Amino acid sequence: MQLDIDNVSVRYGTETVLDTVSCCVHSGEFIGLIGPNGAGKTTLLRAVLGLLKPTTGTITRHDTILGYVPQRGNLYNGTVPVSVLEVVMLGAEGSKAKATRALTSVHMEAYAHKRFTELSGGQQQRVSIAKALAGSANVLILDEPTAGVDEHSQTEFYNLLRYLHAEGTTIIMVSHEVDTVSKLVTRVICLNRTVLYDGPPEHFEADKYLPGAYAKYHLKLHHQYGDGHA
Ligand code: ADP
Repeated sequence: MQLDIDNVSVRYGTETVLDTVSCCVHSGEFIGLIGPNGAGKTTLLRAVLGLLKPTTGTITRHDTILGYVPQRGNLYNGTVPVSVLEVVMLGAEGSKAKATRALTSVHMEAYAHKRFTELSGGQQQRVSIAKALAGSANVLILDEPTAGVDEHSQTEFYNLLRYLHAEGTTIIMVSHEVDTVSKLVTRVICLNRTVLYDGPPEHFEADKYLPGAYAKYHLKLHHQYGDGHA
């Protein structure tokens, strides 16, 4: 077992954002974390990353090195021009060799000396993964990694995740792309303050657990990013 999330609750004032959430994450799993806006998904990721302390409950990591892949645009948005290699080296304690190896593992070695900000959204997200891998992460935590990435690059990005998973990396990914996620992951966790569903993707009935507003949001996202941008 790599992560033990035991009875975790998070409250802000009188608002309970997470209510007695429990789940174990085992080595080699690929988990899709799904739920409507405001469900507490980011809060749970932040708690797992150690960025916030749960109000009650515990999170235990076993031989786990976490690598965080934030939403697009949050990895580096400074004004100083930095190269792709430099961004990855930040995750590798300055080691050029580790950074180069990590870039190779996401098939981005040819871009090492390009400016990070010149890359497409999909390429930036691959570099974000390289930065996590350069820090020897064995669990990748991704927060809506393909939001705003065109459809072709999304497919390539998901193929990369498939490859990394096959190589043994444990993955936890928040996504709104219910259909795509269901084809990719080994386990779906549907969260809305509490865990509504936790099991194999083939038994997950999205209509049962996700409210209409979510379905509309999903359609809107699909329309916005999925059509005509390939
Ligand atoms: P999701 O990622 O599923 O959209 P979040 O974890 O971002 O959900 O947020 C869950 C709820 O917690 C929301 O109602 C949000 O307004 C609230 N929340 C998140 N962070 C804070 C905070 N620092 N202070 C107060 N409320 C917060």
